[in-house]
Parts: sequence; C-alpha cells; structure tokens
Amino acid sequence: MTQAIQPKNNIHIVTNSDVASFLQVGKHFEIALSWIEKRYPEFKGAIRNYPLKVMIGTYHNSDYTGVGIDNPIPIINIKVGTLLVLYNRKSVTLTTPEQGLNVTVHISLMCAYIHELTHHVQFLQGRRYSEVETTMNEINYLKEFHPEVISKLIKPY
Ligand SMILES: [Zn+2]
Repeated sequence: MTQAIQPKNNIHIVTNSDVASFLQVGKHFEIALSWIEKRYPEFKGAIRNYPLKVMIGTYHNSDYTGVGIDNPIPIINIKVGTLLVLYNRKSVTLTTPEQGLNVTVHISLMCAYIHELTHHVQFLQGRRYSEVETTMNEINYLKEFHPEVISKLIKPY
C-alpha cells in the first residue's frame, strides 16, 4: 500500500506507510530541502514551488528524472537502504571505498535526498547534470552532520 503524505506546497512524498513512519521521511525531506535552500538561496522559492514527486521504496537505485514526454513533473526515486556509494571522480575531494560504505538507513536517506535534490536544482536552472556537484553536496552535508562518516571516506582513485 502506498500513501501520499505531507504535501509541501507542490512537493508530494509517496511511500509505503511503514517505511514512512519508521524513517520519518517527511520530516527528513524538509531538513534536506532546507539544507539545499541554504546552498542555493537564489532558488529558494523555485525549489519549493515547482511540482515534484518524491517516491521512497525498494528501488534498485536512487535517481532523478526531469520533465519529459512521459512525466509532466520531475520525479525523485529514493532507495531505502544502508549502503552509501559516492561517485568516484578526480574532481571530488572524497569518495566511498569501491564496494560502498555501510551507514545507517537515516544517513543513506539524507545523502540520497541531498544528491537528488541537487539534480532537481540543476534541472530548474537548466544546467547539465553534474555528479561532481551532487557528490560535493553530499560530502559537505556529511561534514556538517555526520563527521564520523567523513573519516571513513577515501581519496578518489
Ligand atoms: Zn546523480
């Protein structure tokens, strides 16, 4: 069973109700959204007002789909899990070991929110989807709220 919870203006979060209550997905989405709004203050209103559907569940991966022929509004899919995998790019300062890093389901959720919301900003600004920017935002979020994870990251290889 899925249910829509806590519409934030035009933003709708859709998930399995057990997952939603366990992870407090609406509350944590709001925290991630506020972090992104601080990072892109000039787009604060646009991010909150543009229609967006956020689906949380047992996906293979988290991903972002902008507006297209089959989807009139952007969709964020968030995979619930405990494995954190950061992109390995020379221009990011840190990344996860090759097999990924086991983190709490909460940290995994927050990093996925930050990553996919960054793609949403890129879409709203009409920019190319950069994985350097998404990854650096995840790293900066972790530095601020979960420094214990930062110490387990490695240099890009
Ligand atoms: Zn990405």
